[in-house]
Order: sequence, then structure tokens, then C-alpha cells
Amino acid sequence: MIYDLTLTELISYFDDINEKKFRAIQVFEWLYKKRVKSFQEMTNIKKDLLLKLASDFTFPTLKLVDKQVSKDGTTKYLFELEDKNTIEVVLMKYQWGNSLCITTQVGCNIGCAFCASGLLGKFRDLSAGEIVLQVMKVEEIEDLRISNIVIMGIGEPFDNYNNTMKAIKILNHPKGFEIGARHITVSTSGIVPRIYDFALEPFQVNLAISLHAPNDSLRNELMKINKVYNLDELIKACKDYINKTNRRITFEYILLDGVNDSSMHANQLSDLIRGMNAYVNLIPYNEVSEFKYKRTEKENALKFYDILKKRGINVTLRQEKGIDIFAACGQLRSKNM
Ligand code: SAH
Ligand code: SF4
Repeated sequence: MIYDLTLTELISYFDDINEKKFRAIQVFEWLYKKRVKSFQEMTNIKKDLLLKLASDFTFPTLKLVDKQVSKDGTTKYLFELEDKNTIEVVLMKYQWGNSLCITTQVGCNIGCAFCASGLLGKFRDLSAGEIVLQVMKVEEIEDLRISNIVIMGIGEPFDNYNNTMKAIKILNHPKGFEIGARHITVSTSGIVPRIYDFALEPFQVNLAISLHAPNDSLRNELMKINKVYNLDELIKACKDYINKTNRRITFEYILLDGVNDSSMHANQLSDLIRGMNAYVNLIPYNEVSEFKYKRTEKENALKFYDILKKRGINVTLRQEKGIDIFAACGQLRSKNM
């Protein structure tokens, strides 16, 4: 499909068919600045070239099949892909702008013990265009501009690394969506080799790591990826990323009642990341009916927060959004299957 190509790829395709670079730029602008819905609408492009494009590329869209709006304005969309698979996207409105949580895979193979996205396994990766279309479609439906992207929807972005990077390039490009790299965050469960790759990427996109446990035995239980890449290896890769990029890393930590939220865990977590250019984002758990895990009470969450603060760790306690519409990733999709 036409949305799968970065501008560099489109230029090289144009070169292959003996067309000029500026034509490729014009087509890219028709797609992302003017947002046309067919090749025919590209009025400054000659007919034979439009026919060639139409024979080489499809021009798909996403079909909206469900939309739920939470009391706090958080909106969750269920979109259908060409092959009838469905994906979720969540829009969060803040005073400072509109943030969109987007999906990279149909399902997820990592199978974390608390997460609805892992319940059904992975059906397939999304293409770069299918990732980009999520942003385009929500901007179109709501008639607004997305200012921030969090790649924290369904799937493990670093298990679909190349397509995710291509989508970021299109979203970030001045002739594409022009969303600043610093306004884009990718979250990974800890696929260590890809963290090393990500440190070498030419853009300043933020990295978040789903940590959720401060020691190997508990992390093995909650996130089986830890049996492949343990905490030592993960923290080493994070330090490499910080050294190479000079950027701060975010550690996400869902507080699960009686599981990972004691003062012992808070101290272990402080020891683990002490001295790193990092901050911890404590996340209230959105309970999933299939799992036994419960959310930590506010009072205990504050205690955990205070211990980290006292130990000199940068920490925030995330405001929950969209709780009444199951806004955590995977929950809407699994309810509709
Ligand atoms: N696969 C990637 C990105 C998608 S998950 C990752 O794991 O990082 C995005 C974030 O949502 C992760 O931190 C994940 O642990 C968290 N999450 C998953 N299920 C959740 C739930 N029920 N409640 C709150 N956060 C959840
Ligand atoms: Fe996959 Fe992330 Fe959910 Fe784990 S938390 S199952 S990696 S989507």
C-alpha cells in the first residue's frame, strides 16, 4: 500500500521508474499534507504516472467498527483492517495537546501475565502504513491534530521493529505528519537487541521500558520475556542507550496489589536504577477479568511513590484515564472477539 513507503523509499521507487525526485515529494505531500483519498485527486501529477502508481499500490483506509468515549473524554476506537483483523487506538486529550496511543501488531506474543493484549497471541505484524493510518483516521474522524504519539497500544513494537521505525519516519517527517520526535514515545517490554539498535537510530524519539518488577524471580513470573533477557542485560542495554543518546529513559511500573508494591520492592527498584538518567512512571492497573491481579490502593501507591522520592528517584504517579471504557491496551479488542 502507498502508506507503507517513507519519503526516501518513495523517491527511490520514482528513481527506478525514471521519474524525478520532486514528483515523489509532491505525491508524499498529497498523501500527508492534503490527505487525498485516491491517486486521481493528485491533480498536478500526469495521468500515466497516476495509472502506474494505481497499478503498483493500493490506497486503503481503516474502517471504524466501535468507538467508546469515557467520562474524562478519553476515546477508544476499534478499527478493522483490510483482512478483517481489528486493532485498538486510544485518544487522550490534555490541556497541552492530543495524545494518541497506537498499535503495532494484531495481538502480542510476549504474553505478560497481566495484559489483555497477550491473551490471544499474535496474529500478525502491522505494516508501516497500517500504523500511520491510525493517526490519519483519528485526525479525520475528530477533526483535530495529534500532537503526541505513544506507541503503547496492542503489540510489542520491537517485535515489529522495521515497520515501527518506518512509521515513525513518516509521522516525524516535515513533509509527512510533522510530529516532533520528542513528542513520540516507544514502549518495549525489553527486547534487548533492539534497544541497542534503537540507540543508533538517527532521531530523538523517547524510549520507555515496561519494567513492572525489580528482581528477576518476580519479573520472570509477570513478564516471561525476562527469561530471555534478564534484568542485568536489560539495565545494561538501557545504560548503553542513555550513554549513546544522552536521553532520559522512562521505566513504566504497574502497581499490582500485594505483588510488586511493597516497600521492599520500592527499595529494590531504587537500587536497580540508582544513578541512571531515568524516571519511573507508576501506573494504576486496569483490572482485566481474566486475571487475578488487582490494582494497588491509592494510599499504598503513594507510599511506594514516597520511598522512591526519598531515595532520590525521579518518579510520577500516572493519572488514570478512560477507566470506565477499559482503556488499557487489548481490553476492547478481546471484548469484541
Ligand atoms: N508491548 C509494549 C507496548 C504496549 S503495552 C510494552 O509492553 O511495553 C504498553 C504499556 O501498557 C506497558 O507498560 C504495559 O505493561 C501496560 N499495560 C498492559 N496491560 C495493562 C493494564 N491492564 N493496565 C495498565 N497497564 C497495562
Ligand atoms: Fe505484549 Fe506489552 Fe501486553 Fe506484554 S504488556 S503482552 S509485551 S502488549
